[in-house]
Amino acid sequence: MGPPGVGKGTQAKRINHELEIAHISTGDLLRTEIRAKTDVGIIAKKFIDKGKLVPDEFLLDIVRDRLKKTDCDNGYILDGFPRTLDQAIGFEIIMNESDQVLDKVISLSADEDELVDRLVKRGLESGRSDDNSAVIRKRQKIYWEKTEPLLDFYNKKGLLKNIDGLGEIEEITDRILITIK
Ligand code: ATP
Ligand code: MG
Repeated sequence: MGPPGVGKGTQAKRINHELEIAHISTGDLLRTEIRAKTDVGIIAKKFIDKGKLVPDEFLLDIVRDRLKKTDCDNGYILDGFPRTLDQAIGFEIIMNESDQVLDKVISLSADEDELVDRLVKRGLESGRSDDNSAVIRKRQKIYWEKTEPLLDFYNKKGLLKNIDGLGEIEEITDRILITIK
């Protein structure tokens, strides 16, 4: 977990490589739906381009389906999900359905202004429609309103690990691996 641009995707990819588990990015799954112009993708695009969260019911359906694939049998790392309390509660129900437990929640933190700079740069390179400064500020605001409160939810369960997201990419991966191995 962590604010937009903190490096969730970058780190999740490196960790799934180390641990040989599946990497599930809900942002990537939604962008795949958008490219394929599915019904879900057409709706999701409207929310994403405004920097808003896509409604919980879509995310829960997408995650439930994705977790049925066999590459998740050995475990998985979620990147960008859950982002609301209702998603976290829905995810608990999904896990219960298949006797799974959540091992750990990693929270990455970094300075907000540094993050805006990173995302504007990423937008120029990748052409992601939501990586422009106005939409980025909106996404950050939503993170603090809707997602940050989840840290307390997981902290109370004793699952939360806070990691400093500033520094070299490799260094941050090491910090994360130490807490989860
Ligand atoms: P980064 O991964 O670099 O930290 P990010 O988290 O902002 O950046 P994505 O996770 O790719 O980027 O999400 C992009 C957009 O997709 C979000 O702004 C939101 O509109 C939508 N989205 C992704 N995951 C969810 C979710 N769990 N719930 C609702 N909307 C989501
Ligand atoms: Mg991402």
